[in-house]
Amino acid sequence: MRIKVLGCSGGIGGILRTTGFLVDEDILVDAGTGVGDLSIEQLCKIGHIFVTHPHLDHIVSIPLLLDTVYGMRKEPVTLYATRESWEILKAHIFNWKVWPDFSVIPDETNPFLNYREVRLGETVELGSRRFTPIPANHVVPAVGYHLEGDSSSMVFTGDTTTCDELWTAINKIENLKYLVIETAFSDGEEKIARLSKHLCPTMLVDELSKLEHKDIRIYITHLKPGEGEVIMHEIERDAYRFNCRPLYNGHIFQI
Ligand SMILES: [Zn+2]
Ligand SMILES: [Zn+2]
Repeated sequence: MRIKVLGCSGGIGGILRTTGFLVDEDILVDAGTGVGDLSIEQLCKIGHIFVTHPHLDHIVSIPLLLDTVYGMRKEPVTLYATRESWEILKAHIFNWKVWPDFSVIPDETNPFLNYREVRLGETVELGSRRFTPIPANHVVPAVGYHLEGDSSSMVFTGDTTTCDELWTAINKIENLKYLVIETAFSDGEEKIARLSKHLCPTMLVDELSKLEHKDIRIYITHLKPGEGEVIMHEIERDAYRFNCRPLYNGHIFQI
């Protein structure tokens, strides 16, 4: 199972892209602006999209992708999200005002956008690839994902602030190799981090102290544009023992 980072920034500008991962050739986990870097041929191969939560930076490419490949791709695209996230997407994106509702196009019985509900702790298997929603704590209902391949696994937290349930879930995973966790703000913006239910380095250190795994590699994602260096410096200063690295666009994980 090959996981390629298509975007890992909190914003856009220059080479920055918002959150999204390409799993092998056919699966997206979140669909931020980086999906737009894929060719039309690559977009046509996407058959499954897992959504952490309905914030724009994580879903912005879904409506555009569907419109682009409609007519070129024969099979429908399946969207995996919690019921709460799906209802928000239906009400605010696929509402015929912001974008057509592809879940009734061309008709309700055979829609091009096929919704499938996911629930915390319930694994979706696509061949030998396993996806399990794990807890997150954000301003809208949100989940992270545990991605499991043949030999090892990775946790992507999505957007989250402090969340004890997340660590309970992570600590139970036996073959965990990678943890991708957000730190959206610097300590100078702790107030806005708490208000918007993200993490800043001080909060990250508290969270990582709940981690029982000793031998996993930790990557930091969702850095606010222009603050990446400050955030990573603060993490290095306060959490050096965890050897956290910034996640980069184009990074490939093999699990
Ligand atoms: Zn968010
Ligand atoms: Zn976000």
